[in-house]
Amino acid sequence: MANGQIVIGANQENAAFPSGLCAERSAIFAAQSQQPEQPITTLAIAASNDEGLLKDPITPCGACRQVILEMEDRYKRPIRILLFGARAVYAVNSVKDLLPLSFVDANMR
Ligand SMILES: [Zn+2]
Repeated sequence: MANGQIVIGANQENAAFPSGLCAERSAIFAAQSQQPEQPITTLAIAASNDEGLLKDPITPCGACRQVILEMEDRYKRPIRILLFGARAVYAVNSVKDLLPLSFVDANMR
């Protein structure tokens, strides 16, 4: 976050699909709940299984991309996204690079 605080999220599974929540949104919503005045500056995403960190960088789902986009819009600043994998780490400077032709608030007016 802009004040240097790190907020951690984790994937929340639930037998009654889709009641769970992705790690990205759990982190974003926790951050917004605790310090709504603080912009999110960077989002680091990683996933592991029984063998460890996934080999290829993991990317956020469409719903998370939309939430990240709206966080960028709310604070009028891009969120740097780091996508971790054992073989590579990708960095993008805005979710707009992952969500072209996005649906935004202005589309509802
Ligand atoms: Zn997601």
